[in-house]
Amino acid sequence: MEIKVMKNILGENDKIAEENRAMFREKNVTVVNLMGSPGSGKTTLLEKTLEKISGRISAAVIEGDLFTARDAERIERLGVPVVQINTAGGCHLDAAMVKRAAESLELEKIQLLIVENVGNLVCPAEFDVGENFKATVLSITEGDDKPLKYPLIFKESAVVLLNKIDLLPYTNFDLAAAREDLSTIHPNVEIIETSCTTGAGLDAWADWLAGVI
Ligand code: MG
Ligand code: ZN
Repeated sequence: MEIKVMKNILGENDKIAEENRAMFREKNVTVVNLMGSPGSGKTTLLEKTLEKISGRISAAVIEGDLFTARDAERIERLGVPVVQINTAGGCHLDAAMVKRAAESLELEKIQLLIVENVGNLVCPAEFDVGENFKATVLSITEGDDKPLKYPLIFKESAVVLLNKIDLLPYTNFDLAAAREDLSTIHPNVEIIETSCTTGAGLDAWADWLAGVI
C-alpha cells in the first residue's frame, strides 16, 4: 500500500516537473538543482559561485530550507534575486514548491536558476523539480563512503563537487577511492574539487555552468 501511494506522489510530481521544465525552456532559463547534506557547504559555495559569475551570467536562486530564511538572506546580500521556500520540516523540495517560487521571479531576465535543495542525500534525488541538471556537493569531511551509501543522488547528478578539498590532509578521506566509486555509480559524472577557502575549482565550476546555459 505504501509503495502505491509513493508512486502516485511521484507521478503527480513528475507531471508538474515537466510543466516547470517547459516554462523554463520557454524563458530560456537553465535550472540546476543543487543538493547535498547539511553542512556540506552548499550555501557558501553558492555565494562564491554567484560572485564568480556576476557580470557573466544573470542568475537567480530558490532557497529550500526547513524553517529559516538564513541562507536566502545571505544570497540577497549579493544582490541576486532569491525566493525562499520553507518546507516546514519537509526534507526535500518538490516540483509544486519550485513552481510557486519560480512564478515570483522575473524569468525573462534570468539565464541560470540555481535551486538549493534541503540538506539531505536521500529524497531530493527522487523528486524532479523541473531542473535541467542536478549537482551534488559532497564535502571531504563527510567521508568517502557516501557515494556507495547514497548511490541514487550521485547517479542522478551531472556534476559532483568534492567540496572543502583544502581539508583533505586533515581527514582520512580517500580521494582516489571516492572518485573510483563515483565513476562506477555514474561513468560520465563530472567531478570538480572545490574549496571556498582557497578558491580551488571555482573557476572550473563557473565554466561548467557557463557551458550549460
Ligand atoms: Mg544552505
Ligand atoms: Zn524528503
